[in-house]
Amino acid sequence: MATTPHKVEKTDEEWRQELTPAQYEVLRRAGTEPPFTGEYVYNKDSGDYRCAACGAMLFSADTKFDSGTGWPSFTEPAVAEAVELRPDNSLFMKRTEVVCRNCGGHLGHVFDDGPGPNGQRYCINSLALEFQPREGEPAGEGGPAADDAGSGA
Ligand code: FE
Repeated sequence: MATTPHKVEKTDEEWRQELTPAQYEVLRRAGTEPPFTGEYVYNKDSGDYRCAACGAMLFSADTKFDSGTGWPSFTEPAVAEAVELRPDNSLFMKRTEVVCRNCGGHLGHVFDDGPGPNGQRYCINSLALEFQPREGEPAGEGGPAADDAGSGA
């Protein structure tokens, strides 16, 4: 698979300083958070999931589904170019790693047992994501939100 240079390139030391130890372990060391521990496993709010390392738009809540696996699961990336797929034969398994194309951060893996038309299940660590609620849509919290309308880019 073609490997393109990442727009965001930082030294290991810089990543260590910017990320929490848990985020660093996932994003830079290809670690996996324990299932059912991530903050976005059960999140059903409308919004965007961005890369926790570089802020790139990765997944839309519209494609999120409950896979029962304990990790946030999506049927597809927000745009195909947002992620890079790499063969991963570690741990005696044949898997496909999902990486943020913008910064090279490890996000999770993609499997072929998804429910959507393309049959894919993007299994992504919460620690690699930063959720951004969509403006102008009810987030379930109530309260005045009219001031926010139209301020987005
Ligand atoms: Fe990134």
